[in-house]
Amino acid sequence: MHNLTGRVLRAADPGWADAVQGFALNADYANNVPKNVVFCEDAEDVRNAVRYAKANKVPFRVRSGRHNYEGYSSLVKDGLIIDVSDINFVRLNPDRTIAEIGAGCDMLQLFEILGACGVTLPLATGPSVGIAGLTMGGGVGVTSRLWGLTCDNLVEVELVTADGEVVRANEKERADLFWALRGGGGGNFGAVTSFKFKVHPVNNVAIFTLSYDWQAFPAVVAKWQDWAFQADNRITTLLQLLTTQQINLQGQFTASDTDLAGIQSLLGPMLDPSLGLTSVNIQILPAVFANRVMLGVDPMQPAWRVDVHTDDEMFKSTSAFCTSPLPPEGISALLQGLDSPPQLSAPPMQPSMVQLLGGGGAVNVPKPTDTAVFYRDVRFVVQYDAYWSAPEDADPTITWIENLRSNMSPYTLGAYANYTDHLISDYLTAYFGGNLARLVEVKAKYDPDNLFQFPQSIPTSMPGAQK
Ligand SMILES: Cc1cc2nc3c(=O)[nH]c(=O)nc-3n(C[C@H](O)[C@H](O)[C@H](O)COP(=O)(O)OP(=O)(O)OC[C@H]3O[C@@H](n4cnc5c(N)ncnc54)[C@H](O)[C@@H]3O)c2cc1C
Repeated sequence: MHNLTGRVLRAADPGWADAVQGFALNADYANNVPKNVVFCEDAEDVRNAVRYAKANKVPFRVRSGRHNYEGYSSLVKDGLIIDVSDINFVRLNPDRTIAEIGAGCDMLQLFEILGACGVTLPLATGPSVGIAGLTMGGGVGVTSRLWGLTCDNLVEVELVTADGEVVRANEKERADLFWALRGGGGGNFGAVTSFKFKVHPVNNVAIFTLSYDWQAFPAVVAKWQDWAFQADNRITTLLQLLTTQQINLQGQFTASDTDLAGIQSLLGPMLDPSLGLTSVNIQILPAVFANRVMLGVDPMQPAWRVDVHTDDEMFKSTSAFCTSPLPPEGISALLQGLDSPPQLSAPPMQPSMVQLLGGGGAVNVPKPTDTAVFYRDVRFVVQYDAYWSAPEDADPTITWIENLRSNMSPYTLGAYANYTDHLISDYLTAYFGGNLARLVEVKAKYDPDNLFQFPQSIPTSMPGAQK
């Protein structure tokens, strides 16, 4: 007999509507309503939930911050959502080098708690993104060129496996599983209850935003893609290219207090007047405040958020990687796409855009086979973000952003596993490249009955292979 333990919600319970909603507003929640949502409070509750689902043959999803772009962690018709967001503790070891983090922590919590203790790790820039999905898909953060992806800082994972046991995975115990959990994507190998991460000391940091004239688009992109890749590892940047014809270079310089003033000269190549620079804003702030600015929360009331579980409007985001600089034709294709967004019947609250997330530095140090993150020689990630607010604008907007992605494909490869896109037909190869076969092997070993699944999950045998 296996029972659900923790806070179990059914359709008639208060809080149900919120419990079944994911962050992505355009997913089909109405036709994929679960029977139960269990908010687990500890590893025991997670274990009971996995055992219950297995014994009763109930389909289930595991969920942390709900930020899956397709809403996959909240869509399971008549099934069970195993939600770990109440497992949100942070424990720092006495010498402040290792943090044990509950699988339900979100970014704002982590930046605040770790920052108050003078430490940090590469974390995402969305305040309510969950640590579980972020880490297992890789994790790109504002200190990634210095300390690598989020998953590169992982030293141990505690999880409930398909056989209903609470186990640990690290370099020595279940090393194959530990390998897969660093980049193989959430929801595939077990239900994670907590992580142990290496953390790094931080005090003040410099954050900056430089803006450029749209006319200088080709020159800015060309200069940035060389500069950002080779810049001092303590600088991580992203270049925002908005359909409103604005260009913003945002970033963080994470250095000792004595070195921080050097940011002006390190940014030198991007301050060149020939690039059509229109504004420069550089601030040196305590890391906790800098993080609040970057996360877009109120710097004085950081816990204030409209809704942690849903976005304010509909979006479609997708991605690809660039391992070499975009040639002039690639830059032109990007400009052409951004210059011809669809005409919308209602303006979205934020403009559609392409963001280029600078790689190089520590991100490129591990080999493609060291973790499940295959794309390591990345110069930058291309993040395509399209927004709309009226339902009738969905089709043209999605078509436009997918066309842009496709028009850029001669110059890019793959896709980031954390930016799930149901329109990528060969998604397994796109997300995992040459690591797919090894991920399938680990899946078959730890979850032979494919208990942990969702529409883009890793199968137990290679696609097309005879079983
Ligand atoms: C606003 C926004 C900002 C973002 N910013 C960044 C960024 O700066 N850098 C970056 O790299 N990415 C970023 N992302 C992408 C983000 O990393 C992914 O969407 C990530 O998978 C979200 O994790 P989650 O736990 O919030 O989501 P969920 O939807 O809860 O989970 C994502 C996946 O992981 C699985 N999962 C969740 N919890 C567990 C668990 N405990 N055990 C096993 N599997 C689990 C789910 O089943 C699902 O498949 C952003 C996304 C959004 C929407």
